[in-house]
Amino acid sequence: MSEVKNLGFDSKCVHSGVGDYEYGPVVPPIYQTSTFKFETAQHGGALFKGEQKGYIYTRMLNPTVEAMEDAIAALENGHKGLGCGSGMAAVHTVFAALLSVGDHIVCSEAVYGPTVTLLKTVFAKFGVETTFVDASNLDAIKNAIKQNTKVVYIETPGNPTLAIADLEAAAKIAHEANAQFVVDNTFMSPALQKPLDLGADVVLHSLTKFLNGHADVVGGVIIVKDEDTYKHFRKILNQTGGVIDPFNSFLVHRGLKTLSLRMERHSVSSQKVAEWLEAHPKIEWVRYPGLKSHPQYEIAKRQHTAQGGMITFEVKGGFSAGEAVMNSVKLCQLAVSLGGVESLIQHPASMTHASMGKEIREEAGITDGLIRLSVGIENVEDIIADLEKALEEV
Ligand SMILES: *Cc1c(COP(=O)(O)O)cnc(C)c1O
Repeated sequence: MSEVKNLGFDSKCVHSGVGDYEYGPVVPPIYQTSTFKFETAQHGGALFKGEQKGYIYTRMLNPTVEAMEDAIAALENGHKGLGCGSGMAAVHTVFAALLSVGDHIVCSEAVYGPTVTLLKTVFAKFGVETTFVDASNLDAIKNAIKQNTKVVYIETPGNPTLAIADLEAAAKIAHEANAQFVVDNTFMSPALQKPLDLGADVVLHSLTKFLNGHADVVGGVIIVKDEDTYKHFRKILNQTGGVIDPFNSFLVHRGLKTLSLRMERHSVSSQKVAEWLEAHPKIEWVRYPGLKSHPQYEIAKRQHTAQGGMITFEVKGGFSAGEAVMNSVKLCQLAVSLGGVESLIQHPASMTHASMGKEIREEAGITDGLIRLSVGIENVEDIIADLEKALEEV
């Protein structure tokens, strides 16, 4: 649907990626098939040579998967998307596509824990060197650049510190060094931040989080800007095999339709929860991009259309106080992951970022008492009441 290009973002959420199918369904059908019949040997040959458009084998491309990919590419103002079996499969595919032995990557330090581990183990083993930097400090990015830097990789807001990098300025630094600028946009979603418009070359997401939004799918996606990059990435994804399946793609596509509505509610409620927490005597500090106390508040205002659903805070009394809160909440569920309709609460030091090691964790601002809250779409009064009761137990 080429006319989707001219629609507003909310309309794109509803209509993008929906093509014309037999019998005229309003949503793309689930093509739950591993393979596709050729009409003739010549037809099969033409498909393999790319002379004719069509589907061959679901690892290579599937119509239900492609519909979801097209929808997200439209939301990010990109050229094409590539659906992956998880967010980590997307991260891995991007690194495999852009890095070779002897290359160097600059990576923001407050990134998803397994991304750090992937670079420090698998890619280090293949001769790729990484420098981790505080990406909210532009000089730190600039100083980390080397002659062999091929990729600057940033997650913003960072996980779980919510440190914010200035994407436009970081893109300039990367491009001056002839490096590709890659952004993990999982925390904001294209509803609130569009990195490609700000100079990123490649954007990726864990679909598991806000894009699907319902905590029932694990998936990832990569969005690229041009056909050559798309073809290169598709080849790598096909060879490494970390693709998403048709049914999960269907669920993600369904989730996208309410993305704008959900992000709006996540943002409005999070602002209220963050302000309430900040005023609470048992709270040491709160990080939320919508609070004036956030160190990059001004960048957040410019770079995001709203401030999203993620809050981090520290309860006075450190590790044990944090533990007490987590063991006392009832509505907020104690679980990793984020971006779903239900509020989730977790403790990075013992969970998602445990593999980083205490020293690197603390350098990255992830203290032992830090709690990460993914604010759901429940009534905000209920979320606050739940936290209030839990804080009484501290
Ligand atoms: C969850 C997450 C990932 C990894 O995604 P999976 O779907 O769990 O593999 C990557 N980046 C960020 C920012 C995430 O939150």
